[in-house]
Parts: sequence; C-alpha cells; structure tokens
Amino acid sequence: MSPTAPQAAPDLSALVLPRRAALVGAGLCALAGTGLAAVGDGRLTLGSGPTRTQATRRAADPGGFSRVRTSAPVVALTFDDGPDPAYTPTVLDLLARAGAQATFFCVGTNVEAHPAIVERIVREGHLLANHTHDHAPLESILGREVERQVRDGRSALVEVAGLRAGSVQGARFLRPPRGFTTPNVARIAGRLDERGAYWSLCLEANGAGDDRSTGARVGALLDPGDVLLAHDGGHVSGRWGQVYDRSTTVAALPYVLETLAARGLRSVRLDQLVRSGRPV
Ligand SMILES: [Zn+2]
Repeated sequence: MSPTAPQAAPDLSALVLPRRAALVGAGLCALAGTGLAAVGDGRLTLGSGPTRTQATRRAADPGGFSRVRTSAPVVALTFDDGPDPAYTPTVLDLLARAGAQATFFCVGTNVEAHPAIVERIVREGHLLANHTHDHAPLESILGREVERQVRDGRSALVEVAGLRAGSVQGARFLRPPRGFTTPNVARIAGRLDERGAYWSLCLEANGAGDDRSTGARVGALLDPGDVLLAHDGGHVSGRWGQVYDRSTTVAALPYVLETLAARGLRSVRLDQLVRSGRPV
C-alpha cells in the first residue's frame, strides 16, 4: 500500500504500533496519533488523545458506539471512503460470493460521481451510511459547516439511492472521518438524526506481511459484536481530497471472509448488528 497523498498529517512520533501497522494504518484508521497505548492488534484502548480511543469517543458522543455486546455469532464489516470504481465492485463480488452483508460509509462526492455503484450496493442488500459530503474533518470545522457536511452527505445518499427514513435503508449512521468527533459534532449529528458509528478493529492497521496472513489475522481477531473498519474508497476529491491504494485491502478480504466462516461467524449490516445486542 502506498498512499500518495495522505490525509491530514498525523503525528507518528508517539505510535507504539508495529512498524507495518503504523505505516498502513496511518491516516486510515485514526490510530495514528498520540494517546495510544498497547494497540498492537489495532483495537482502540484508553489513551489521552481526543476521540482517538473508544473512551474519548464515548465521552464526546455518548449515543455513538464502536461495537455491540451480543451473544449472536455476528460481526459487521464496514467499508469507508467509497464508492470507488477501482475497488468497490470487487468488494461487492467478494461479499456476494461469501454470502456476507456489509455497511458502506460513503463520501457524498463519490456517491454523486458513481451512482450506479451506490445502486448496486443497495440492490445487493448492503447498508449505506454517511461519511460526510467531502470527508471533512468534523472536529476542526465550524458548526454550520459540520451541519452542512452531515446533511449533504445524507442528501447525496437519499438522492442517488432513493432512501427514505424508516425504510430498511433508513438506518442513519454517521462515521466522522478518522473517527474524530467532539461533543458539538455529536450534538449536531443527533439533531440531524444521525448516530455515531465507530469501530473496534481496523483491517489496514493489522497488516501481517501478505494478504492471506493479513486476512487470516483479522478474521481471527474479530469476536462476536465487533465492527471492522476497512476501506473500499481510494479517491476523495476536493478540499480534503486524498488518494490511497486500497488493493491490499481488497486482496486480504477473501481471507477475512474465509476465516470468519471457518469460525462460524458471519458479517451482517450494522443495523442488524445493533439489533442483535447492546451497542457500546
Ligand atoms: Zn474516511
């Protein structure tokens, strides 16, 4: 993986992640930053960085969740930053072959640019969710811009996919870029009826040398109720644009799915995961 235009330069100096995890995860999973301690498998743990951990996210966004306490043998695979014609169709093919369902946190500009892929996501039973209109850093912009990013990100989904609140596609989850939020962002999102949805494990932070090993490692680390963050989108345009090579993510995915199946776990949509237990 060789990001050519990494998003907002993270401070890597305090990372305790293994080298590959740090490099691969930097800017992808919001694990790159200060305040992390003992996150060798990419799980979020207690730390001092603002909303870089489950604890700080929970404090800023008490209505949000990172995983679900459940006894059901289910996890939720989630894909951010798409749709992207370079990767999303392959991800959809792999999910279909495995009989797995997933959630796609789409960037509004990509939704508008690739409506046919969005329609395919819906047609194949996956859940669409909001990742802002421009992949804006919600934690560092003005409140009225936060509101616009959340509202326009949702509007893009509604206009392209014909979503309606209350329909099966009406579950309203918002994942702030990099998982960075604030009490004010959470308040604004809540007013717009969007629930903060974070993650408990990141695929890209768990590189294990080759695609098969990475996929097997991630599949083995996922426990019932976990939410996996992965990325199907390599391109975001505009003010907060970024370009990443997501080919290793796509290449590892079959082994994630294979390992989950071997362990008797299946991937469901985030709304289904939430209904299976208690979001925390
Ligand atoms: Zn993102």
